[in-house]
Amino acid sequence: MTRSEEINRRRTFAIISHPDAGKTTITEKILYTTNIIREAGVVKGKSGTKAVTSDWMQMERDRGVSITSSVMSFDYKGLRVNLLDTPGHKDFGEDTYRTLIAADSAAMLLDAAKGVEERTKKLFEVCRLRKTPIFTFANKMDREGKEPLELIDDVESTLKLECYPVTWPIGMGDRFRGLYHRLNRKLYLYTRGEEDPEIIDVKDHNDPIIVEKVGDEAYLKFSEDLDLLEGALGTFDRERFLAGEISPMTFGSAKNTWGVDLFLDLFTEQAPGPGPRQARDGIVQAEDKSFSGFVFKIQANMDRRHRDRVAFCRIVSGEFERGMKVQHQRLGRELRLSYANSFMARDRETVDNAYAGDILGLVDTGNFQIGDTITDGKKIVFDEMPRFSPECFGRLSIKDPLKRKQMQKAVQEVAEEGAVQIFFDPIIGEQDPVLGVVGELQFDVLLYRLNDEYKLDVKLERLPLSVARWPVKKDGSPVGRSIQGGTKLFRDVADRPVVLLQKEWDLNWLIKENPDLEFHITGK
Ligand code: GDP
Repeated sequence: MTRSEEINRRRTFAIISHPDAGKTTITEKILYTTNIIREAGVVKGKSGTKAVTSDWMQMERDRGVSITSSVMSFDYKGLRVNLLDTPGHKDFGEDTYRTLIAADSAAMLLDAAKGVEERTKKLFEVCRLRKTPIFTFANKMDREGKEPLELIDDVESTLKLECYPVTWPIGMGDRFRGLYHRLNRKLYLYTRGEEDPEIIDVKDHNDPIIVEKVGDEAYLKFSEDLDLLEGALGTFDRERFLAGEISPMTFGSAKNTWGVDLFLDLFTEQAPGPGPRQARDGIVQAEDKSFSGFVFKIQANMDRRHRDRVAFCRIVSGEFERGMKVQHQRLGRELRLSYANSFMARDRETVDNAYAGDILGLVDTGNFQIGDTITDGKKIVFDEMPRFSPECFGRLSIKDPLKRKQMQKAVQEVAEEGAVQIFFDPIIGEQDPVLGVVGELQFDVLLYRLNDEYKLDVKLERLPLSVARWPVKKDGSPVGRSIQGGTKLFRDVADRPVVLLQKEWDLNWLIKENPDLEFHITGK
Protein backbone atom coordinates (compact mmCIF):
# COMPACT_ATOMS: atom_id res chain seq x y z
CA MET A 1 0.00 0.00 0.00
CA THR A 2 1.30 3.46 -0.80
CA ARG A 3 1.70 6.06 1.89
CA SER A 4 -1.22 8.01 0.59
CA GLU A 5 -3.46 4.91 0.61
CA GLU A 6 -2.40 4.21 4.17
CA ILE A 7 -3.25 7.76 5.22
CA ASN A 8 -6.58 7.72 3.45
CA ARG A 9 -7.74 4.59 5.20
CA ARG A 10 -7.18 6.05 8.71
CA ARG A 11 -10.29 6.86 10.76
CA THR A 12 -9.55 8.35 14.16
CA PHE A 13 -12.45 8.99 16.50
CA ALA A 14 -13.54 9.23 20.13
CA ILE A 15 -16.76 8.52 21.97
CA ILE A 16 -18.31 11.32 23.98
CA SER A 17 -20.89 10.49 26.61
CA HIS A 18 -22.02 11.00 30.18
CA PRO A 19 -21.00 8.31 32.71
CA ASP A 20 -23.26 5.24 32.54
CA ALA A 21 -24.60 5.95 29.06
CA GLY A 22 -22.88 2.73 27.97
CA LYS A 23 -19.50 3.75 26.58
CA THR A 24 -17.63 0.75 27.98
CA THR A 25 -20.35 -1.55 26.74
CA ILE A 26 -20.42 -0.15 23.22
CA THR A 27 -16.61 -0.11 23.03
CA GLU A 28 -16.63 -3.79 23.94
CA LYS A 29 -19.32 -4.47 21.39
CA ILE A 30 -17.45 -2.57 18.70
CA LEU A 31 -14.36 -4.67 19.35
CA TYR A 32 -16.52 -7.74 19.38
CA THR A 33 -18.34 -6.86 16.16
CA THR A 34 -15.07 -6.11 14.42
CA ASN A 35 -13.68 -9.44 15.62
CA ILE A 36 -10.99 -7.96 17.77
CA ILE A 37 -12.12 -9.63 20.94
CA ARG A 38 -13.11 -12.88 19.29
CA GLU A 39 -9.68 -13.12 17.77
CA ALA A 40 -8.29 -12.75 21.22
CA GLY A 41 -10.03 -15.96 22.20
CA VAL A 42 -13.60 -15.19 23.07
CA VAL A 43 -16.14 -17.48 21.51
CA LYS A 44 -19.24 -15.89 20.12
CA GLY A 45 -22.43 -17.27 21.54
CA LYS A 46 -25.24 -16.83 24.01
CA SER A 47 -22.87 -16.43 26.90
CA GLY A 48 -20.84 -14.06 24.76
CA THR A 49 -21.50 -11.00 26.80
CA LYS A 50 -20.27 -12.52 30.01
CA ALA A 51 -17.17 -13.98 28.40
CA VAL A 52 -16.34 -10.69 26.79
CA THR A 53 -16.65 -8.84 30.06
CA SER A 54 -14.42 -11.16 32.01
CA ASP A 55 -11.87 -11.33 29.24
CA TRP A 56 -11.87 -7.58 29.19
CA MET A 57 -11.31 -7.29 32.90
CA GLN A 58 -8.61 -9.92 32.83
CA MET A 59 -6.82 -7.96 30.14
CA GLU A 60 -6.85 -4.97 32.39
CA ARG A 61 -5.56 -6.98 35.30
CA ASP A 62 -2.84 -8.70 33.28
CA ARG A 63 -1.51 -5.49 31.98
CA GLY A 64 -1.99 -3.50 35.12
CA VAL A 65 -3.48 -0.71 33.09
CA SER A 66 -6.91 0.38 32.26
CA ILE A 67 -7.45 -0.59 28.69
CA THR A 68 -9.96 2.19 28.50
CA SER A 69 -7.32 4.82 29.05
CA SER A 70 -5.47 4.48 25.80
CA VAL A 71 -6.13 4.03 22.12
CA MET A 72 -7.57 1.01 20.41
CA SER A 73 -6.61 0.40 16.81
CA PHE A 74 -8.16 -2.19 14.55
CA ASP A 75 -8.76 -2.96 10.91
CA TYR A 76 -12.33 -3.04 9.69
CA LYS A 77 -13.63 -3.10 6.14
CA GLY A 78 -10.29 -2.01 4.75
CA LEU A 79 -10.03 0.90 7.17
CA ARG A 80 -7.64 1.35 10.06
CA VAL A 81 -9.79 2.64 12.88
CA ASN A 82 -8.24 4.36 15.90
CA LEU A 83 -10.66 4.67 18.78
CA LEU A 84 -9.33 7.16 21.30
CA ASP A 85 -10.63 6.72 24.76
CA THR A 86 -12.01 9.70 26.61
CA PRO A 87 -11.51 8.99 30.33
CA GLY A 88 -14.78 9.35 32.21
CA HIS A 89 -16.04 8.65 35.73
CA LYS A 90 -13.35 9.39 38.31
CA ASP A 91 -10.51 9.82 35.84
CA PHE A 92 -12.29 12.55 33.91
CA GLY A 93 -9.97 15.51 33.49
CA GLU A 94 -8.44 17.93 31.09
CA ASP A 95 -6.93 14.97 29.24
CA THR A 96 -10.42 13.92 28.28
CA TYR A 97 -10.94 17.21 26.48
CA ARG A 98 -7.49 17.18 24.91
CA THR A 99 -8.10 13.75 23.46
CA LEU A 100 -10.93 15.23 21.42
CA ILE A 101 -8.46 17.60 19.77
CA ALA A 102 -6.64 14.53 18.44
CA ALA A 103 -9.77 12.97 16.89
CA ASP A 104 -11.12 13.55 13.39
CA SER A 105 -14.68 12.70 14.35
CA ALA A 106 -16.67 11.80 17.45
CA ALA A 107 -19.53 9.49 18.30
CA MET A 108 -21.97 10.98 20.78
CA LEU A 109 -23.51 8.23 22.83
CA LEU A 110 -26.78 9.09 24.54
CA ASP A 111 -28.81 7.17 27.05
CA ALA A 112 -32.14 7.41 25.24
CA ALA A 113 -33.99 7.85 28.52
CA LYS A 114 -31.81 10.73 29.66
CA GLY A 115 -30.98 12.60 26.48
CA VAL A 116 -28.16 15.12 26.50
CA GLU A 117 -26.56 15.04 29.94
CA GLU A 118 -24.17 17.50 31.49
CA ARG A 119 -20.87 15.88 30.62
CA THR A 120 -21.93 15.11 27.07
CA LYS A 121 -22.69 18.78 26.69
CA LYS A 122 -19.24 19.79 27.89
CA LEU A 123 -17.48 17.32 25.64
CA PHE A 124 -19.63 18.42 22.76
CA GLU A 125 -18.58 22.04 23.28
CA VAL A 126 -14.97 20.99 22.76
CA CYS A 127 -15.93 19.22 19.52
CA ARG A 128 -17.70 22.34 18.40
CA LEU A 129 -14.53 24.40 18.85
CA ARG A 130 -12.96 22.42 16.03
CA LYS A 131 -16.20 21.76 14.14
CA THR A 132 -15.61 18.04 14.61
CA PRO A 133 -18.09 15.87 12.68
CA ILE A 134 -20.35 14.02 15.11
CA PHE A 135 -22.30 10.78 14.90
CA THR A 136 -25.07 10.17 17.38
CA PHE A 137 -25.98 6.78 18.83
CA ALA A 138 -29.09 6.63 20.97
CA ASN A 139 -28.46 3.74 23.35
CA LYS A 140 -30.62 1.60 25.65
CA MET A 141 -33.59 1.29 23.30
CA ASP A 142 -34.38 -1.95 25.13
CA ARG A 143 -35.60 0.26 27.98
CA GLU A 144 -38.39 2.78 28.15
CA GLY A 145 -37.01 6.21 27.34
CA LYS A 146 -37.79 9.46 25.63
CA GLU A 147 -39.74 9.27 22.40
CA PRO A 148 -37.22 9.38 19.56
CA LEU A 149 -38.61 12.67 18.26
CA GLU A 150 -38.31 14.13 21.74
CA LEU A 151 -34.70 12.96 21.89
CA ILE A 152 -33.91 14.72 18.63
CA ASP A 153 -35.56 17.83 19.98
CA ASP A 154 -33.39 17.62 23.06
CA VAL A 155 -30.17 17.38 21.00
CA GLU A 156 -31.23 20.17 18.70
CA SER A 157 -32.27 22.56 21.42
CA THR A 158 -29.53 21.79 23.96
CA LEU A 159 -26.61 21.55 21.56
CA LYS A 160 -27.86 23.47 18.55
CA LEU A 161 -26.92 20.43 16.51
CA GLU A 162 -29.26 19.16 13.84
CA CYS A 163 -29.92 15.41 13.78
CA TYR A 164 -30.28 13.30 10.69
CA PRO A 165 -31.77 9.95 11.66
CA VAL A 166 -30.41 7.15 9.51
CA THR A 167 -32.21 4.41 11.40
CA TRP A 168 -35.50 4.71 13.25
CA PRO A 169 -36.67 2.52 16.12
CA ILE A 170 -39.89 0.57 16.10
CA GLY A 171 -41.07 0.71 19.69
CA MET A 172 -38.89 0.81 22.75
CA GLY A 173 -38.40 -1.07 26.00
CA ASP A 174 -40.36 -4.30 26.03
CA ARG A 175 -42.15 -3.14 22.92
CA PHE A 176 -38.94 -2.65 20.96
CA ARG A 177 -39.16 -4.66 17.76
CA GLY A 178 -36.36 -3.39 15.62
CA LEU A 179 -34.89 -0.70 13.44
CA TYR A 180 -35.84 0.65 10.07
CA HIS A 181 -32.89 1.83 7.99
CA ARG A 182 -34.05 4.87 6.04
CA LEU A 183 -31.19 4.87 3.57
CA ASN A 184 -30.79 1.22 2.63
CA ARG A 185 -34.52 0.43 3.10
CA LYS A 186 -34.09 -2.57 5.29
CA LEU A 187 -35.89 -3.68 8.37
CA TYR A 188 -33.85 -5.19 11.21
CA LEU A 189 -36.01 -7.21 13.59
CA TYR A 190 -34.51 -8.13 16.93
CA THR A 191 -35.47 -10.77 19.43
CA ARG A 192 -34.46 -10.55 23.06
CA GLY A 193 -31.51 -12.80 23.86
CA GLU A 194 -30.39 -12.88 20.27
CA GLU A 195 -27.86 -10.65 18.66
CA ASP A 196 -28.48 -11.32 15.01
CA PRO A 197 -31.56 -9.65 13.57
CA GLU A 198 -33.90 -10.91 10.91
CA ILE A 199 -33.21 -8.60 7.97
CA ILE A 200 -35.94 -7.79 5.46
CA ASP A 201 -35.79 -5.63 2.36
CA VAL A 202 -38.68 -3.16 2.22
CA LYS A 203 -39.97 -0.69 -0.35
CA ASP A 204 -40.28 2.16 2.11
CA HIS A 205 -41.66 2.75 5.59
CA ASN A 206 -45.20 2.10 4.36
CA ASP A 207 -44.41 -1.37 3.07
CA PRO A 208 -47.23 -3.68 4.33
CA ILE A 209 -44.67 -6.27 5.37
CA ILE A 210 -43.69 -3.97 8.24
CA VAL A 211 -47.18 -4.05 9.82
CA GLU A 212 -47.25 -7.75 9.31
CA LYS A 213 -43.98 -8.17 11.15
CA VAL A 214 -44.36 -5.69 14.00
CA GLY A 215 -48.11 -5.51 14.57
CA ASP A 216 -50.62 -2.67 14.29
CA GLU A 217 -49.84 -0.77 17.43
CA ALA A 218 -46.06 -0.54 16.99
CA TYR A 219 -46.52 0.27 13.32
CA LEU A 220 -48.96 3.11 13.89
CA LYS A 221 -46.56 5.13 16.03
CA PHE A 222 -43.63 4.28 13.78
CA SER A 223 -45.36 5.31 10.57
CA GLU A 224 -46.60 8.55 12.10
CA ASP A 225 -43.03 9.46 13.03
CA LEU A 226 -41.68 8.47 9.65
CA ASP A 227 -44.32 10.39 7.70
CA LEU A 228 -43.26 13.44 9.63
CA LEU A 229 -39.55 12.81 9.20
CA GLU A 230 -39.57 11.93 5.53
CA GLY A 231 -41.45 15.14 4.88
CA ALA A 232 -38.99 17.24 6.81
CA LEU A 233 -35.65 15.65 5.98
CA GLY A 234 -34.00 16.02 2.64
CA THR A 235 -31.05 14.00 1.47
CA PHE A 236 -28.08 13.71 3.76
CA ASP A 237 -25.78 16.69 3.31
CA ARG A 238 -22.27 15.35 3.88
CA GLU A 239 -20.69 18.79 3.69
CA ARG A 240 -22.78 19.94 6.63
CA PHE A 241 -21.86 16.80 8.54
CA LEU A 242 -18.16 17.44 7.89
CA ALA A 243 -18.63 21.00 9.11
CA GLY A 244 -20.09 19.68 12.38
CA GLU A 245 -23.53 21.13 11.69
CA ILE A 246 -25.61 18.01 11.26
CA SER A 247 -25.27 14.66 12.98
CA PRO A 248 -26.24 11.34 11.40
CA MET A 249 -28.06 9.42 14.10
CA THR A 250 -28.67 5.74 14.76
CA PHE A 251 -30.46 3.87 17.52
CA GLY A 252 -29.80 0.63 19.31
CA SER A 253 -28.85 -1.19 22.45
CA ALA A 254 -25.18 -1.75 23.11
CA LYS A 255 -25.90 -4.28 25.81
CA ASN A 256 -27.91 -6.45 23.42
CA THR A 257 -25.55 -5.76 20.49
CA TRP A 258 -28.49 -4.30 18.58
CA GLY A 259 -27.67 -1.68 16.00
CA VAL A 260 -23.95 -1.63 16.78
CA ASP A 261 -23.11 -3.03 13.34
CA LEU A 262 -25.40 -0.45 11.73
CA PHE A 263 -23.56 2.27 13.58
CA LEU A 264 -20.24 0.84 12.41
CA ASP A 265 -21.49 0.73 8.82
CA LEU A 266 -22.52 4.35 9.02
CA PHE A 267 -19.20 5.23 10.58
CA THR A 268 -17.14 3.44 7.93
CA GLU A 269 -19.15 5.04 5.14
CA GLN A 270 -19.16 8.58 6.47
CA ALA A 271 -16.32 9.22 8.91
CA PRO A 272 -13.67 11.52 7.52
CA GLY A 273 -10.03 10.52 7.27
CA PRO A 274 -7.24 12.63 8.74
CA GLY A 275 -7.89 16.26 7.86
CA PRO A 276 -5.71 19.32 7.54
CA ARG A 277 -4.58 21.04 10.73
CA GLN A 278 -3.80 24.63 11.47
CA ALA A 279 -0.17 25.30 12.36
CA ARG A 280 1.29 28.64 13.33
CA ASP A 281 2.57 29.32 9.82
CA GLY A 282 -0.14 27.79 7.71
CA ILE A 283 -2.15 24.67 7.15
CA VAL A 284 -0.59 21.21 7.24
CA GLN A 285 -2.21 18.56 5.04
CA ALA A 286 -2.31 14.93 6.16
CA GLU A 287 -0.74 13.85 2.89
CA ASP A 288 2.20 16.24 3.12
CA LYS A 289 5.45 14.37 2.69
CA SER A 290 7.04 15.58 5.89
CA PHE A 291 6.18 13.91 9.13
CA SER A 292 4.62 16.05 11.86
CA GLY A 293 2.61 15.47 15.01
CA PHE A 294 1.69 16.95 18.37
CA VAL A 295 1.54 15.60 21.90
CA PHE A 296 -1.96 15.72 23.39
CA LYS A 297 -1.65 13.60 26.48
CA ILE A 298 1.04 12.35 28.83
CA GLN A 299 0.44 9.39 31.03
CA ALA A 300 2.66 8.12 33.79
CA ASN A 301 3.13 4.47 34.62
CA MET A 302 1.05 2.85 31.92
CA ASP A 303 2.77 -0.37 32.64
CA ARG A 304 3.64 -1.35 36.19
CA ARG A 305 6.81 -3.07 35.06
CA HIS A 306 8.26 0.14 33.71
CA ARG A 307 8.25 3.43 35.52
CA ASP A 308 8.16 5.37 32.30
CA ARG A 309 5.82 7.96 30.99
CA VAL A 310 4.10 7.73 27.66
CA ALA A 311 3.57 10.81 25.54
CA PHE A 312 0.67 10.32 23.15
CA CYS A 313 1.34 11.96 19.82
CA ARG A 314 -1.21 12.42 17.09
CA ILE A 315 0.45 12.22 13.69
CA VAL A 316 -0.82 15.11 11.59
CA SER A 317 1.08 14.52 8.36
CA GLY A 318 3.34 12.04 6.65
CA GLU A 319 4.74 8.79 7.89
CA PHE A 320 6.54 7.68 11.00
CA GLU A 321 9.26 5.06 10.81
CA ARG A 322 10.77 3.39 13.79
CA GLY A 323 14.14 4.81 14.73
CA MET A 324 13.56 8.00 12.79
CA LYS A 325 15.09 11.22 14.02
CA VAL A 326 12.69 14.02 14.73
CA GLN A 327 13.07 17.65 15.55
CA HIS A 328 11.52 18.63 18.88
CA GLN A 329 10.28 22.11 18.06
CA ARG A 330 10.07 23.54 21.56
CA LEU A 331 13.44 22.22 22.74
CA GLY A 332 15.00 22.92 19.37
CA ARG A 333 16.83 19.65 19.29
CA GLU A 334 16.83 16.29 17.63
CA LEU A 335 15.40 13.15 19.21
CA ARG A 336 15.54 9.60 17.96
CA LEU A 337 12.21 7.82 18.32
CA SER A 338 13.33 4.27 18.95
CA TYR A 339 10.50 3.22 21.16
CA ALA A 340 7.11 4.04 19.87
CA ASN A 341 4.10 1.94 20.57
CA SER A 342 0.83 1.60 18.86
CA PHE A 343 -2.06 0.36 20.89
CA MET A 344 -3.99 -2.71 19.92
CA ALA A 345 -6.81 -3.99 22.04
CA ARG A 346 -4.66 -6.61 23.65
CA ASP A 347 -1.05 -5.58 23.40
CA ARG A 348 1.11 -2.60 23.33
CA GLU A 349 2.98 -3.31 20.14
CA THR A 350 6.07 -1.67 18.87
CA VAL A 351 5.34 -0.03 15.56
CA ASP A 352 7.60 0.13 12.57
CA ASN A 353 5.44 2.47 10.54
CA ALA A 354 2.58 4.76 11.36
CA TYR A 355 0.74 7.37 9.33
CA ALA A 356 -1.18 10.61 9.60
CA GLY A 357 -4.21 9.89 11.77
CA ASP A 358 -2.41 7.35 13.95
CA ILE A 359 -1.48 7.82 17.57
CA LEU A 360 2.04 7.10 18.70
CA GLY A 361 2.80 6.26 22.29
CA LEU A 362 6.26 7.69 22.77
CA VAL A 363 8.21 6.37 25.68
CA ASP A 364 9.26 9.56 27.40
CA THR A 365 11.95 10.36 29.90
CA GLY A 366 10.82 13.94 30.42
CA ASN A 367 11.29 15.53 27.02
CA PHE A 368 7.66 16.10 26.26
CA GLN A 369 5.00 18.51 27.38
CA ILE A 370 1.42 18.66 26.25
CA GLY A 371 1.14 20.60 23.02
CA ASP A 372 4.70 19.88 21.84
CA THR A 373 5.22 19.48 18.10
CA ILE A 374 7.65 17.03 16.52
CA THR A 375 8.54 17.02 12.83
CA ASP A 376 11.10 15.43 10.56
CA GLY A 377 12.95 18.70 10.30
CA LYS A 378 10.47 21.13 8.83
CA LYS A 379 9.65 24.12 11.02
CA ILE A 380 6.07 23.48 11.99
CA VAL A 381 4.42 24.41 15.27
CA PHE A 382 0.87 23.35 15.89
CA ASP A 383 -1.18 25.93 17.62
CA GLU A 384 -0.68 25.64 21.32
CA MET A 385 -3.10 23.14 22.85
CA PRO A 386 -5.96 25.12 24.37
CA ARG A 387 -6.51 25.12 28.11
CA PHE A 388 -9.99 24.05 29.05
CA SER A 389 -12.33 25.50 31.60
CA PRO A 390 -11.59 23.99 35.02
CA GLU A 391 -14.44 22.95 37.28
CA CYS A 392 -12.71 22.40 40.60
CA PHE A 393 -10.77 25.13 42.33
CA GLY A 394 -8.55 25.47 45.35
CA ARG A 395 -5.64 27.21 47.05
CA LEU A 396 -2.56 25.59 48.48
CA SER A 397 -1.04 26.27 51.84
CA ILE A 398 2.24 24.95 53.17
CA LYS A 399 3.21 24.04 56.72
CA ASP A 400 6.71 25.44 56.55
CA PRO A 401 6.52 29.05 55.34
CA LEU A 402 10.19 28.98 54.40
CA LYS A 403 9.32 26.54 51.67
CA ARG A 404 6.72 28.76 50.04
CA LYS A 405 8.98 29.74 47.10
CA GLN A 406 9.78 26.10 46.52
CA MET A 407 6.10 25.27 46.44
CA GLN A 408 5.40 28.02 43.90
CA LYS A 409 8.12 26.66 41.65
CA ALA A 410 6.86 23.09 41.96
CA VAL A 411 3.29 24.12 41.15
CA GLN A 412 4.53 26.03 38.16
CA GLU A 413 6.36 22.96 36.89
CA VAL A 414 3.34 20.75 37.30
CA ALA A 415 1.22 23.41 35.59
CA GLU A 416 3.61 23.49 32.64
CA GLU A 417 3.03 19.80 32.15
CA GLY A 418 -0.66 20.58 31.82
CA ALA A 419 -1.81 18.93 35.05
CA VAL A 420 -3.22 22.04 36.73
CA GLN A 421 -4.01 25.63 35.79
CA ILE A 422 -2.91 28.71 37.70
CA PHE A 423 -4.94 31.90 38.05
CA PHE A 424 -3.50 35.02 39.62
CA ASP A 425 -5.55 37.32 41.76
CA PRO A 426 -5.25 40.95 40.55
CA ILE A 427 -4.69 42.19 44.09
CA ILE A 428 -2.71 39.44 45.76
CA GLY A 429 -0.55 38.86 42.67
CA GLU A 430 1.68 35.84 42.27
CA GLN A 431 1.81 35.08 45.98
CA ASP A 432 -1.23 32.94 46.41
CA PRO A 433 -2.77 31.86 43.14
CA VAL A 434 -6.03 29.97 42.63
CA LEU A 435 -5.51 26.53 41.12
CA GLY A 436 -8.04 24.99 38.78
CA VAL A 437 -8.50 21.50 37.39
CA VAL A 438 -11.12 19.89 35.20
CA GLY A 439 -11.42 16.68 37.21
CA GLU A 440 -10.98 15.81 40.91
CA LEU A 441 -8.33 13.25 40.08
CA GLN A 442 -6.03 15.99 38.85
CA PHE A 443 -5.98 17.52 42.36
CA ASP A 444 -5.14 14.13 43.85
CA VAL A 445 -2.28 13.80 41.38
CA LEU A 446 -1.04 17.31 42.18
CA LEU A 447 -0.99 16.70 45.94
CA TYR A 448 0.63 13.32 45.52
CA ARG A 449 3.37 14.76 43.36
CA LEU A 450 4.07 17.73 45.60
CA ASN A 451 4.44 15.35 48.52
CA ASP A 452 6.19 12.50 46.81
CA GLU A 453 8.38 14.19 44.23
CA TYR A 454 8.99 17.59 45.77
CA LYS A 455 8.79 16.54 49.43
CA LEU A 456 6.48 19.42 50.30
CA ASP A 457 3.92 19.20 53.06
CA VAL A 458 0.99 21.03 51.51
CA LYS A 459 -2.72 21.31 52.11
CA LEU A 460 -5.41 22.11 49.59
CA GLU A 461 -8.24 24.38 50.55
CA ARG A 462 -11.16 23.99 48.17
CA LEU A 463 -12.89 27.12 46.90
CA PRO A 464 -16.61 27.43 46.17
CA LEU A 465 -16.06 28.06 42.44
CA SER A 466 -17.05 25.88 39.51
CA VAL A 467 -16.81 27.90 36.33
CA ALA A 468 -13.94 29.64 34.53
CA ARG A 469 -14.37 31.64 31.35
CA TRP A 470 -12.01 33.72 29.26
CA PRO A 471 -13.75 36.99 28.30
CA VAL A 472 -12.93 38.30 24.84
CA LYS A 473 -14.20 41.51 23.22
CA LYS A 474 -16.38 40.82 20.21
CA ASP A 475 -14.59 43.55 18.27
CA GLY A 476 -11.17 42.10 19.08
CA SER A 477 -10.00 44.98 21.29
CA PRO A 478 -8.37 44.18 24.67
CA VAL A 479 -10.70 43.50 27.59
CA GLY A 480 -9.02 45.88 30.01
CA ARG A 481 -8.91 45.74 33.81
CA SER A 482 -12.55 45.27 34.66
CA ILE A 483 -15.91 44.23 33.26
CA GLN A 484 -19.52 44.96 34.19
CA GLY A 485 -21.22 42.91 36.87
CA GLY A 486 -18.82 43.32 39.80
CA THR A 487 -16.69 40.31 38.99
CA LYS A 488 -12.97 40.29 39.62
CA LEU A 489 -10.76 39.55 36.62
CA PHE A 490 -8.07 36.99 37.31
CA ARG A 491 -5.11 36.47 34.95
CA ASP A 492 -3.87 33.15 33.61
CA VAL A 493 -0.18 32.32 33.08
CA ALA A 494 -0.29 33.90 29.63
CA ASP A 495 -1.71 37.08 31.23
CA ARG A 496 -5.14 36.59 29.67
CA PRO A 497 -8.12 37.77 31.71
CA VAL A 498 -10.28 35.05 33.27
CA VAL A 499 -13.43 35.15 35.36
CA LEU A 500 -13.86 32.54 38.09
CA LEU A 501 -17.47 32.02 39.11
CA GLN A 502 -19.51 30.03 41.58
CA LYS A 503 -22.27 28.86 39.28
CA GLU A 504 -23.44 28.78 35.66
CA TRP A 505 -26.05 31.25 36.78
CA ASP A 506 -23.35 33.85 37.48
CA LEU A 507 -22.09 33.36 33.98
CA ASN A 508 -25.50 33.97 32.46
CA TRP A 509 -25.69 37.18 34.47
CA LEU A 510 -22.27 38.30 33.16
CA ILE A 511 -23.29 37.52 29.59
CA LYS A 512 -26.32 39.76 30.03
CA GLU A 513 -24.33 42.56 31.66
CA ASN A 514 -21.59 42.53 29.03
CA PRO A 515 -23.14 42.41 25.57
CA ASP A 516 -19.80 43.45 24.05
CA LEU A 517 -18.04 40.32 25.39
CA GLU A 518 -17.90 36.65 24.58
CA PHE A 519 -16.98 34.19 27.32
CA HIS A 520 -14.82 31.39 25.97
CA ILE A 521 -14.42 27.94 27.51
CA THR A 522 -10.75 27.77 26.57
CA GLY A 523 -7.92 30.20 27.00
CA LYS A 524 -6.97 30.78 23.43
P1 GDP B 1 -20.12 3.92 30.81
O1 GDP B 1 -20.06 4.49 32.16
O2 GDP B 1 -20.64 4.91 29.81
O3 GDP B 1 -18.86 3.24 30.35
O4 GDP B 1 -21.29 2.84 30.86
P2 GDP B 1 -21.25 1.25 30.91
O5 GDP B 1 -20.93 0.68 29.59
O6 GDP B 1 -20.43 0.81 32.07
O7 GDP B 1 -22.79 0.98 31.18
C1 GDP B 1 -23.46 1.49 32.31
C2 GDP B 1 -24.63 0.58 32.65
O8 GDP B 1 -25.57 0.61 31.59
C3 GDP B 1 -24.20 -0.88 32.78
O9 GDP B 1 -24.95 -1.45 33.81
C4 GDP B 1 -24.57 -1.48 31.45
O10 GDP B 1 -24.85 -2.85 31.50
C5 GDP B 1 -25.82 -0.69 31.11
N1 GDP B 1 -26.07 -0.65 29.65
C6 GDP B 1 -25.21 -0.36 28.66
N2 GDP B 1 -25.83 -0.44 27.47
C7 GDP B 1 -27.11 -0.78 27.72
C8 GDP B 1 -28.25 -1.02 26.89
O11 GDP B 1 -28.21 -0.97 25.67
N3 GDP B 1 -29.41 -1.32 27.54
C9 GDP B 1 -29.49 -1.41 28.90
N4 GDP B 1 -30.67 -1.72 29.42
N5 GDP B 1 -28.45 -1.20 29.69
C10 GDP B 1 -27.26 -0.89 29.12
